[in-house]
Amino acid sequence: MIARRLAVAALLAGATAGAARSTVPRDSPPFSTAPYHAVRLADDVYVVPGDTGRGSEGRPNAGFIVTDSGVAIIDALASPWEARQMRAVIRTVTPAPVRWVVLTHHHPDHMMGTIVFTREGAVVIAHPDRTMLTRENGDDGLLADWDRIIGLHELQGFVFADTPAWPVTHDTTVILGHTTLSLYHPPGAAHTPGDLAIWLPVSRVLFAGDLVVEDGVTMVVDGNSGVLATALAHLDSLGASIVVPGHGRIAADPRAQLSASEHYIDSVRTAIRAAVRQGTPMTRVLRQMPPPDSGRPVSLASRRQRNAERVYLEMERDLMGMGSDSHSGAGGGPHVSGLAIAGPPASTMAVPAIRHTLISTDSLAALVPRGKVTIIDARSDVSLYLKSHLPGAAYINSESMRSMAGGVPNLILPVESYVALFSRLGIRRDRPVVIYSAGETRDIDATYLSWILTGFGVPQVALLDGGFSKWELESRPTVQRYPDPVAGSFAEGSFVPGRATLDDIRGYLRRRAASSDKDAGPTILVDARPPDQYGGSAGVQMRHGHIPGAISHPWAADMNEGLAHTFKSPDDIRAGYLAQGVTPDKDIIAYCNGGLESSHLYFALHDLLGYPHVRVYDGSWTEYAAHADLPVATGSTP
Ligand SMILES: [Zn+2]
Repeated sequence: MIARRLAVAALLAGATAGAARSTVPRDSPPFSTAPYHAVRLADDVYVVPGDTGRGSEGRPNAGFIVTDSGVAIIDALASPWEARQMRAVIRTVTPAPVRWVVLTHHHPDHMMGTIVFTREGAVVIAHPDRTMLTRENGDDGLLADWDRIIGLHELQGFVFADTPAWPVTHDTTVILGHTTLSLYHPPGAAHTPGDLAIWLPVSRVLFAGDLVVEDGVTMVVDGNSGVLATALAHLDSLGASIVVPGHGRIAADPRAQLSASEHYIDSVRTAIRAAVRQGTPMTRVLRQMPPPDSGRPVSLASRRQRNAERVYLEMERDLMGMGSDSHSGAGGGPHVSGLAIAGPPASTMAVPAIRHTLISTDSLAALVPRGKVTIIDARSDVSLYLKSHLPGAAYINSESMRSMAGGVPNLILPVESYVALFSRLGIRRDRPVVIYSAGETRDIDATYLSWILTGFGVPQVALLDGGFSKWELESRPTVQRYPDPVAGSFAEGSFVPGRATLDDIRGYLRRRAASSDKDAGPTILVDARPPDQYGGSAGVQMRHGHIPGAISHPWAADMNEGLAHTFKSPDDIRAGYLAQGVTPDKDIIAYCNGGLESSHLYFALHDLLGYPHVRVYDGSWTEYAAHADLPVATGSTP
């Protein structure tokens, strides 16, 4: 239907720019007139400024950070053509490759150029929620409408590439090269359901995406004004030296710019709340404002009109008691309130999209002679490796993957240590890796390595189901000879393990204590140790028992009985967790004594079952028991 098509095109333009060319009045401005160049904001931090003086019409701002391992770009502009102009600008600053694309949100003017960088090998880091009004006809509909706005010529070579390989659903700190980026996701949809603001705590530069635009009138049509108000207050609290808005000039006084946005959104909410209370119809409210510009859905007047309409609906809903207006956004996910993203990288909570898998002894036996796989023996006793191991297997002990930090004997290592370690072992991102541990007694050393490699985004990793004992039981070949050294090194990249810290556990306990029915919200703790340790009758740590509220699910419960332990079927494993209320919507923190057994739960839940929110508390009971102020529960129930 043509009318509908035009309406969608207008909405689409509303996400960004001028209207569809077919409907553009003759005097309407072109999509962009800004020249392409880079402006240095801080050491190694640059902005590629877009149009200025046009509100949120025209080309947005984009940025890039030159890390010691490659370039991270922030937003990829509106088309492959635009992205190529940006690529050329980056090349005038550094010959380094673009390794990462961080998207502030999924509106087309900020991401349709992503393919240019992923073709170069870059990894996309973004919130996974790509929904918006203009995508209601799917990706095809969006593309069809967008090509009329930006022009077919600019879209040559276009492919959607904004689905993140590294989805970020919580406040998350990522370390790219040696550069720290704190990604902030508002508690719900603010400008869109998939907003991320990028904060560089060292240079104190904030890339705000479209949460902030030059003229202070942020669009909330795909989001929610209450969440936006919360988000702006948070951004204000960071005390940034430089705030790069989604569109327009960088203000000399970033506080004033943020205050203007906060003031605008607060005043709209207050005025419209009053109007709804008094029973003023929406049409009258909108008529009292300057009329929208025809054919320019994101001109200042048009944004004000559309926001007022949206806020009217929010307030109506709110006042009718249909739930809070501040959390109606889609895809918010569990939000950790009070997590200071300016602080140290304590909670690294991105959920890597990478899922590792199991490999059978049969399948591995077929691969071994071809030599196209890196095999890692992770048994806890090196003398077993010296006696015999799989042909070509390199050896790692799980104790070399964790160490004392901050007085806790068993925390994960810094990135550099893993890079050195994995380089020695011949682990490479472009080569499949198979890990095995003993099998008859424990797989937890193999799952620990798998968990760490997931944090590095190493894609092709499999655990040998049944481990060394099944391989040996089946009389398959073993050798005593050490492997030939493998050429090449483990490329350093972002390391974002699904990891929880003692702070996360304290937060859980606080929320649980504050709730009358001891409900800590979406977070649940799962204890992976044997029942006697959970109950408090065994253990070598300072105190015995478990964290109050934690569910007991020993890692061995996911394994079949028998000489060589293999994993139960995914359906059986899933049934076991579901029966305990461990469901995929939960924010799951697995713990044990030092991260090994809980990594087994991580593998089962995250890799085999595909649960999206699973973390390992690597400090675990060893750290927890040492804090005498923290409560301990004993017995067989949470
Ligand atoms: Zn936007």
